[in-house]
Amino acid sequence: MTFNDLNLIEPILKALKTEGYTTPTPIQEQAIPIVLQRRDLLGCAQTGTGKTAAFSIPILQLLYQDRLQHKEQKTIKALILTPTRELAIQINESLAAYGRHTGLKHLVIFGGVSQNPQVDALRRGVDILVATPGRLLDLMNQRFVHLEHIKMLVLDEADRMLDMGFVNDVKKVIAKVPVKRQTLFFSATMPKEIQHLADTILTNPEKIEV
Ligand code: AMP
Repeated sequence: MTFNDLNLIEPILKALKTEGYTTPTPIQEQAIPIVLQRRDLLGCAQTGTGKTAAFSIPILQLLYQDRLQHKEQKTIKALILTPTRELAIQINESLAAYGRHTGLKHLVIFGGVSQNPQVDALRRGVDILVATPGRLLDLMNQRFVHLEHIKMLVLDEADRMLDMGFVNDVKKVIAKVPVKRQTLFFSATMPKEIQHLADTILTNPEKIEV
């Protein structure tokens, strides 16, 4: 199996070539077709498995294809929630790499730094937002972030978000995202609490474990 067998579009395949990727990892092989079918996904996976590309690549592809069809405005269409600043930055860098030929705009926001550059970037328009929950809620409450056009939602490292005490923040964010959306949920472990959270936010998900 190569990336050419996954029905990916040329702008993505070209970027993967630049990255030196030839073979999808097991989670990519399983997740990419599911996401491209616009199904919800529950993925049990650790970091280091290629999880970031497993959700980033199909998100970029779907939004690229949607934009070709509808000429949509620069509203946030995909939101990726992640527990730490380091992870958020990594995901944003992955979007830059895999999305370099798509023209899609992505931005990362996190706490502990001035919000002004983040607010300026939000004003310029963003297709894909990567965020830690606290700063996101903060900017939502100040009306700098609007989530009513979200079509795709990712919860990355859900168990860590719970461990870090973000569960209420995460719930508040999700309450502002349209119910009619595609949701991708990743966690390294699946304790009861995580399973329950997944049940409440996913609709008929495909399940994968790597
Ligand atoms: P992740 O699990 O998303 O943190 O990814 C782990 C590392 O594997 C990252 O440094 C990626 O750049 C790299 N990687 C992900 N997918 C592939 C692939 N299909 N081929 C080669 N390297 C990859």
